[in-house]
Amino acid sequence: MQLSKRIQKLSPSATLRVDLLAKNLQANGRDIINLSLGEPDFDTPEEVKKEAIDAINKGFTHYTATAGIKELKCAIANKFLKENKINYECDQIVVGVGSKQLLFNAFQVLCDSGDEVIVATPTWSTYIEQIKLSCAKPIYINLSYPFKLNAKDIEKKLSQKTKLILLNYPANPTGQIIDKIELEKIAILAEKRKIFVISDEIYEKISYTQDHVSIASIGKAIRNLTLTINGFSKTYAMTGWRVGFAGGPKQVIEAMVSLQSQTTSNTSSISQMAALGATELPENNVEYMVGKYKKRRDYIYKRLSKFGGFKFYLPDGAFYFFVGINKFLNETLPSSNAWALKLLEEEGVAVIPGEAFLCSGYLRLSYANSLNNISEGLKRIFRFAQKI
Ligand code: PLP
Repeated sequence: MQLSKRIQKLSPSATLRVDLLAKNLQANGRDIINLSLGEPDFDTPEEVKKEAIDAINKGFTHYTATAGIKELKCAIANKFLKENKINYECDQIVVGVGSKQLLFNAFQVLCDSGDEVIVATPTWSTYIEQIKLSCAKPIYINLSYPFKLNAKDIEKKLSQKTKLILLNYPANPTGQIIDKIELEKIAILAEKRKIFVISDEIYEKISYTQDHVSIASIGKAIRNLTLTINGFSKTYAMTGWRVGFAGGPKQVIEAMVSLQSQTTSNTSSISQMAALGATELPENNVEYMVGKYKKRRDYIYKRLSKFGGFKFYLPDGAFYFFVGINKFLNETLPSSNAWALKLLEEEGVAVIPGEAFLCSGYLRLSYANSLNNISEGLKRIFRFAQKI
């Protein structure tokens, strides 16, 4: 059987592959510390679960409007206005099967063959695969350590074919944010050339150094050129519920809804009620989780500083450290890929190699895990680094 050329070129998610490998080892009785996960280790809040159970009991278990129920779309529009200072009407919102699906839909409705999409690396590999599936071409900005994106980097990559600028902040895997002053300059660049921006702000609330600024809030012109992507997965520990959302110009949202109507239709009706419940949670719910992440971030920073040899910085947000391991590479373990595999095999610690983010020589360590597990994981990583 001959699979399509598109699919033959597709690389499966490296993050999910490592996670699966770790889970298989665990199922076979190995003691594994999993620092590969891109999902909160907290349980979904009780109030959210209750909304879902109520929805089932009330029989709210049928198809909904493709773009999501009106109450949820309006609650999201309200969130955008209150928290992000972006004014969207309810019908400028689409709810989908996680932000991953919305990103896919966005590239599909915006890109044609030959279009260029500007992406800064290290980056989440899903973007690259989705851009390629849309037949567009990723144009890379290879950021240098410590991976802060600025407008000049983008300007150098603009061409007649540039269709989109993709932003993600706080970023996966670097945890870095884009400073407001740079966002303003990026907005000017996009407005001048009428280039569209996709801004993935899914880690917006997991930000330690400053309040999040949405690029679409900078002014009306950039708001009309931006699709803001977000979701419930990270903020409310709801990865399995599959609820993401996007706000943007009506024409783009309508096209995304149209595509969704021919693919998945609505995301689960039950999950939508749960998400609606999440929009009503008091802010201290999120603050509690972010407080824990911050403690873990500071703890890892201290331990890495004390051990020495690794290249690292204090990340601004998200729940990842992106750690340079060049000093620990050698002839037997010449790449971060080989290093991560051997680390899993010998010490039972799962981390994601930088190759998965188009940046070799680094490891992504997730601290969406308990302090105990983080402490044990680091102990094993240091032992491994000492003996190779
Ligand atoms: N965007 C970024 C930067 C991510 O890291 C992830 C998940 O790891 C997602 C989007 C997808 O989240 P979801 O599809 O669960 O909403």
